[in-house]
Amino acid sequence: TAKRNTTVTQLYDAALDSSSTQTLSLLSELRHAVQNHELRVFLQPKISLKTGEVVAAEALVRWQHPTRGLIPPMAFIPFAEQTGFIRQITLWVFDEVARQWDSLQPAAPRGQPLRVAINLSTRDLMDPDFPAKLAVLLATHGASSASFCLEITESAIMDDPLRAETTLNQLSELGFKLSIDDFGTGYSSLAYLKRLPVDELKIDKSFVMGMGNDPDDGKIVRSTIDLAHNLGLNVVAEGVETAAAWELLRELSCDEAQGYHMGKPMPVAEFPAWRERWLQR
Ligand code: C2E
Ligand code: CA
Ligand code: CA
Ligand code: CA
Repeated sequence: TAKRNTTVTQLYDAALDSSSTQTLSLLSELRHAVQNHELRVFLQPKISLKTGEVVAAEALVRWQHPTRGLIPPMAFIPFAEQTGFIRQITLWVFDEVARQWDSLQPAAPRGQPLRVAINLSTRDLMDPDFPAKLAVLLATHGASSASFCLEITESAIMDDPLRAETTLNQLSELGFKLSIDDFGTGYSSLAYLKRLPVDELKIDKSFVMGMGNDPDDGKIVRSTIDLAHNLGLNVVAEGVETAAAWELLRELSCDEAQGYHMGKPMPVAEFPAWRERWLQR
């Protein structure tokens, strides 16, 4: 099923496979949502722990439902992954970000160019045409691959490591930065970490949020930072909710932090003003 194209008929097939009318109606609602511009990209800042600069932002999708309000990704992304519809969502998110590229860059001389991180799913990695599809979107909007980071979980890679390796090599050759998301929660293979063209590790928020209470979490965070640096990789901590966590990560020489303490995910249009406030804090 991994090779299936997400045509309308095949989507219905996928939905019927799970033989539930609820699945079928959610799937048609989701297709409708994309067509009717109900999906929204939110951005959450990633900040350099050394300089305090806003170096990147992660694109996180939400569904602005006409009657049910703002729906969080966990309510529809797992479903979209199961049916394969996620591939259309990934391309939609990428297109949205590439289209608004210029408006996201800080006015010179304030700050460095912003990198935007996009979440990929295992379905994207299994699609042999995925790298070419991103290249087309870049060309359409005149955006540069170097300004994008693609976040991939360990489990998405380990689903089919050889296929994933081929796709990741192609994405890296196109100039994309690659990041391993939720690091430490999957069954990571350090052998693959060494082999793959990875630029960054993101320490899962469960460890970062537990750091203050559970000494084991603290040790995992510390070891991951060391591992990343020994392999020459950038390391990001997510789930930074307190000033104490920020301070500890800075002492541990973690490179970047992302979390509610600095900024929650926000609509793209609010991001430039947020950055101005952050720089003037
Ligand atoms: P993720 O990729 O691990 O994204 C980080 C999640 O942690 C986001 O949740 C973010 O809002 C949340 N977070 C960030 N800082 C903090 C913090 O300080 N405290 C707490 N408690 N949480 C924090 P969100 O936006 O609800 O997204 C959940 C997941 O949905 C994402 O986890 C990702 O797996 C998936 N997702 C979201 N957007 C996309 C997308 O466009 N494509 C794909 N494939 N998956 C997506
Ligand atoms: Ca992510
Ligand atoms: Ca994560
Ligand atoms: Ca996660």
